[in-house]
Amino acid sequence: MKGRFAPSPSGRMHLGNIYSAVLSWLSARSQGGKWLLRIEDLDRQRCRPEYAAQIEDDLLWLGLEWDEGGSRSGCNGPYYQSQRDAVYERELQKLEARGLLYPCFCTRADIMAASAPHQSDGVVVYSGRCRALTAAERTAMSATRKPATRLCVPNADCTFTDGHYGLQHYNLARDCGDFIVRRADGNFAYQLAVVTDDALMGVTEVVRGCDLLPSTPQQIYLYGLLGYSVPQFAHIPLLVAPDGRRLAKRNAGTDMGSLRQRYTPQQLLGLIAHLAGLTECCEELSVTEILSLFAWSKVPTDNIVVD
Ligand code: GLU
Repeated sequence: MKGRFAPSPSGRMHLGNIYSAVLSWLSARSQGGKWLLRIEDLDRQRCRPEYAAQIEDDLLWLGLEWDEGGSRSGCNGPYYQSQRDAVYERELQKLEARGLLYPCFCTRADIMAASAPHQSDGVVVYSGRCRALTAAERTAMSATRKPATRLCVPNADCTFTDGHYGLQHYNLARDCGDFIVRRADGNFAYQLAVVTDDALMGVTEVVRGCDLLPSTPQQIYLYGLLGYSVPQFAHIPLLVAPDGRRLAKRNAGTDMGSLRQRYTPQQLLGLIAHLAGLTECCEELSVTEILSLFAWSKVPTDNIVVD
């Protein structure tokens, strides 16, 4: 059994990131599993090596040890997505060989304009507009614009059991639409990279925020196409501010820099354990203590308001 934490080093981690890390660590360790750290720095403009180093420092400060990944050696590396282009290229070629990819020239505005009636769960479903372009149209459009690469999805159902939210039903065409596997700027897209990495790194359990639940059918579809077995997914409720918006960097005082000034690791673990439903009130806890309290059945399914 192997769990993982896959943060994007685009800033200092905040309470929401750490809470995801703790729950993923608890789930893996409570099953006697390994825990892997993968740095999702595909977006070269927003990600910085110093933030990646800070993530490791923050995890160690909390006492969350990982077995492989990040700057540590391991036999499934490199563990930085920015160093894995050749691996993603190989997987992309598998999809290309099956004739499932096409160039998409749509701008963000085109996509929003064409997609409004197809929205489901706040996810923008691509209309498939560029799928029908002829070879001549593609050549003509390539002269002025670099295309993204999209994967065709069939009109097929995808049903899976989430470890925390239970049975999920999606239809790939209706709920996901053709999705991007390589962006117009040349960067490989999240869906392709995350599936490739979780598969090749031997991850058997993915614990992450429920904002990624709607991405799961796309990822399950990719696992099948690329010939990999699907891990177990368990999504967790989001930490939200009193205004209902997801806790993020804009919420002052919730980044690890401020938290480390105000709390000891045991106090912060106690707060996270309490938010995750593991304790009645906030108390100081060590990683070993929190592990003995962990059970998925105690974790709520509704988003958690942090005041
Ligand atoms: N890198 C993503 C994030 O930081 C997480 C991806 C995942 O867990 O699948 O939001």
